[in-house]
Amino acid sequence: AKKAGRNTFCLFSQEMESALHFRTGLENDLRRAIENGEFSLHYQPQRDQAGRLIGVEALARWHSPFRGPVSPGLFIPVAEASGLILPLGHWVFEQACRQSVRWNRSDNGNRPPVVIAVNVSALQLRQPDFVQDILRTIEETGAQATHLKLELTESAMVEDVQATIDKMLELKRHGLTLALDDFGTGYSSLSLLKRLPLDQLKIDQSFVRELLATPSDVAIARSIIALADALGLEVIAEGVETREQQQFLAALGCTRYQGYLFGKPVPAEQFDGSY
Ligand code: C2E
Ligand code: CA
Ligand code: CA
Ligand code: CA
Repeated sequence: AKKAGRNTFCLFSQEMESALHFRTGLENDLRRAIENGEFSLHYQPQRDQAGRLIGVEALARWHSPFRGPVSPGLFIPVAEASGLILPLGHWVFEQACRQSVRWNRSDNGNRPPVVIAVNVSALQLRQPDFVQDILRTIEETGAQATHLKLELTESAMVEDVQATIDKMLELKRHGLTLALDDFGTGYSSLSLLKRLPLDQLKIDQSFVRELLATPSDVAIARSIIALADALGLEVIAEGVETREQQQFLAALGCTRYQGYLFGKPVPAEQFDGSY
């Protein structure tokens, strides 16, 4: 590797430089965007078989004044690599708490409470004061812990498992619920899954996308649903775009859905009334 070092460096330097340039540019803009409050949240419905609302997922949106809308697929990885996900993630959770208070006011009639699911990055969960920060934000906003769900990823589970489990247990003791996001795309073992105090598994949309054409995806979806059942966990399918996919999933025993078929992510104002 050393011998090729010089040539390799020359070969890749331009690409590396532009990649670095892009990332540094985005990172700087992102830092300023957090200070300037250029973010908002969209909410995507989660529905049961009958189409009834069972919850919403909060999804971060960045509208840069000079870049225009920037996809979370682009800025979340940069936020995670730079640590900016810590202030951004705090902001997202606080906004979700405030929205939860608005949606769940006692004068909202007899509607069942709306549970808002919030994405949490591995780096956030790894902070020693993560649980404290979550609980303080809930208290300060007057939200109810039972109206909030955290979506964690498998990558957040592999390091220091016991410390992670302790945090999860404390969150649950206070009434929050926990989902494992993008399930099936990571590396967590079944024995680890058994130890995690989860409430819900989310079937990743990559398995849903080609469900009707790919037998292995059917096998995976079927296994996840059976596994969730065996472990006493709820299961929800993500990225459901067609009636055929939904019917197929229903035949496998799935009863909870999220995806364009059931509603796209929209600003909170567009949500009221769409129960
Ligand atoms: P995710 O958590 O897996 O969120 C689901 C993504 O799938 C969202 O993309 C959503 O808009 C999209 N989606 C929903 N239904 C459908 C469908 O039927 N078809 C297709 N093709 N896509 C669908 P989005 O909003 O672009 O977010 C991408 C990822 O960025 C999220 O994936 C999540 O990992 C991350 N992200 C977004 N907001 C936050 C946040 O506040 N904090 C953290 N840590 N990550 C976030
Ligand atoms: Ca998610
Ligand atoms: Ca997901
Ligand atoms: Ca995903």
